[in-house]
Amino acid sequence: MMFNIQSFYEECYTGKKVDCSQVFNYIRQFQNVIIRGAAAQGAALGKRLLEEQISVTVYWDVRAKELGRIHGVPVELPFTRKFKCDETIIIHAIPNHVIMERLISEMREQGYSNIIRGDILYSACVCSYQLGDKLQANRCWQNQGECRSVVCQKANSIIKNYMHKGKGGDRIDLTYCCFIINSLCNLSCRDCVQYMPNYPINRRYNVPFEVISRDIDRFFDMVDSVGTVSVMGGETFMHPDIAKIACKFAEKENLGFVSFPTNGLYPIKPEQLEGIEDPRIIIAFGYYLHVATERQKEIYQKNVELVKKHGITYTESLSLPSWVETCTLEKRDVDEVYMTEMKQGCNLPARNLQVKNGKVHTCDKGVALYNMGIADYPTDYLDLTQNISNPELRNAFRKFDNRDFYYSCGHCEHVATSVESAIQGRKAITSRIGEN
Ligand code: SF4
Ligand code: SF4
Repeated sequence: MMFNIQSFYEECYTGKKVDCSQVFNYIRQFQNVIIRGAAAQGAALGKRLLEEQISVTVYWDVRAKELGRIHGVPVELPFTRKFKCDETIIIHAIPNHVIMERLISEMREQGYSNIIRGDILYSACVCSYQLGDKLQANRCWQNQGECRSVVCQKANSIIKNYMHKGKGGDRIDLTYCCFIINSLCNLSCRDCVQYMPNYPINRRYNVPFEVISRDIDRFFDMVDSVGTVSVMGGETFMHPDIAKIACKFAEKENLGFVSFPTNGLYPIKPEQLEGIEDPRIIIAFGYYLHVATERQKEIYQKNVELVKKHGITYTESLSLPSWVETCTLEKRDVDEVYMTEMKQGCNLPARNLQVKNGKVHTCDKGVALYNMGIADYPTDYLDLTQNISNPELRNAFRKFDNRDFYYSCGHCEHVATSVESAIQGRKAITSRIGEN
């Protein structure tokens, strides 16, 4: 049976209801159906296939021993048995996009060429959201890891559609962006992407709520839509006005989710959660317990309980991730060609813009260089406080966003070294303006 998988994916991305009978028939024709990944997404897909009377031959998962069987189907270590490649289809159900490409090429190298992306299949045949619906964080985020909403193209199409008319000219739809609300932290992680331990003492502060509120208004007037906003620091909960900030974001129609990441080790006060009711808001607890003191571990448990009690959607990262080593921010002896190549090959999500204190910065390097006082490149940020009309601001944004390069890119290095997460310490970085 001929089946065009690419057009199936494209259809799923639109957010419209997809007729899955063809994809099910396609899967049915294979002798062996393997689901790679037996965690939440794989298990949900296995259950759905069962409802269609499609029998799954085996799950492949590195935790095979611990998992045993899922819905009666055995879980084996990947590649334990060799199946006839042309009679086998593999559904790749590990929704981690950082390692996805590598895992898929590994299967191809073993000769398996019939592979379906589990996350996309899931969006078509398990997820019931459709264009016109309002997404809720407790479905897209807090479902034991069935989805990764930030990279879900269906979710992004649904969110874009909240503002389907657009605001004039080329649309400005961002998948993701950050609002940086402070430069204070209770930890000192050497490879913090925001370089918090390196901030000079006089540059450590909470951005006042009034400034954040003004920036939210101006920014959301300017863009057509944003998929996910991360509100972060530093340690987000060291800002006293979290509840007010969350309620301010809740006024905006043109956003999908607002996530408040936290290391979980700083005590959350009940008043910081009071009045947070919008179903698009999530508190995301990171994994820092391996560097926590006994006292901090208790604080973590209390924080989770408090968030639960307030009925706010939350996620907990329960595994020990590795981090990528940060670069030194040193100004390199490079030319525009280098900076252009750096920007074009930038491995950050296409739009990792960072809003802080009235300015939209290029990325975490850009926001650090400016706010730590290392460099001030006026082309590398957009001033949200300038006295121009909204259409003019939209044009200024497009120009800023489409620059061939940023001078910040001349301080940047795409480091690929993985390091242990949250190592405590202080990185030796370049000096500040006026220092030797
Ligand atoms: S992230 Fe949300 S929209 Fe996307 S598949 Fe999951 S539940 Fe559906
Ligand atoms: S400085 Fe340039 S290359 Fe580096 S992360 Fe930012 S945009 Fe990307």
